Amino acid sequence: MKNIIIADGHMHLGSDPLILNTGGDLSGFLEKMDSLSIGIAYSSHYCWLLSRFKDGFEMSLKAYEESEGRIHFLGVYDPGKGKESLRYLESALKSPGFAGIKIHPSFHSTFADDPSYLPAWDFARKYKKTILSHTWSLTENPVQKFSIPRLFEKNINDYGDVNIILGHAGGRRNGRLQAIDLAASHSNVYLDIAGDIFCPGLIGKLVEKPGAEKIIFGSDWPWFDPMCYLPRIFLAPISMKQKEMILCGNAMALFGPHIHPEENNDKISKDR
Ligand SMILES: [Zn+2]
Repeated sequence: MKNIIIADGHMHLGSDPLILNTGGDLSGFLEKMDSLSIGIAYSSHYCWLLSRFKDGFEMSLKAYEESEGRIHFLGVYDPGKGKESLRYLESALKSPGFAGIKIHPSFHSTFADDPSYLPAWDFARKYKKTILSHTWSLTENPVQKFSIPRLFEKNINDYGDVNIILGHAGGRRNGRLQAIDLAASHSNVYLDIAGDIFCPGLIGKLVEKPGAEKIIFGSDWPWFDPMCYLPRIFLAPISMKQKEMILCGNAMALFGPHIHPEENNDKISKDR
């Protein structure tokens, strides 16, 4: 089989206070990347999600440097601390590791269609950055109501030139159906498969609608091991070209670095 690069489009360095998992440290993830031949990853650092802006920013820069450019990062926009969020996003523009903007309406207890998110969309438009948002379905977990996919529809329409990835492909069934419809009907909407959405045949079904060009592999490390996802993609009943798009091409097109994946593959294997 042709040697293809793998990019983890949705993972986290740092640790979530809700999980007792030590896997969020940099060396643990680098080992995981090496063991699974993951060439590039895109991290939303937990300190940044927790609005510890300075720590999140500095640790993200450090991870980019120490990983020799393999772990890129997203800067988090907290709608309750908009000015401070923007200040750090602006500082991040100086780093080639800055890949996009992360929003997490459930984490920040703010509905995704709240106007306090508009500065993040304006920033994304101005600097041509992709937004990755947590999305989920309505469940017994009360904070998921902030992140259901249909809440994004107005901004998706108003910011047709801003690409957005609906993380976790909308979660369970009712959210997933909304996310699939949005991605199928809007050129700027993508889905990632991070998180515990392990229903059978998922990859094949998403390739039917909205299509392989809209799907991104992500693991949600340290919640889950990327090892759980890769066989699902490699063994899915889809073409090699579709697998390449899901494993790497789509994420790199949205987040950068904007070089041809094969060139990058050569670079990464030479560097290691
Ligand atoms: Zn996540």
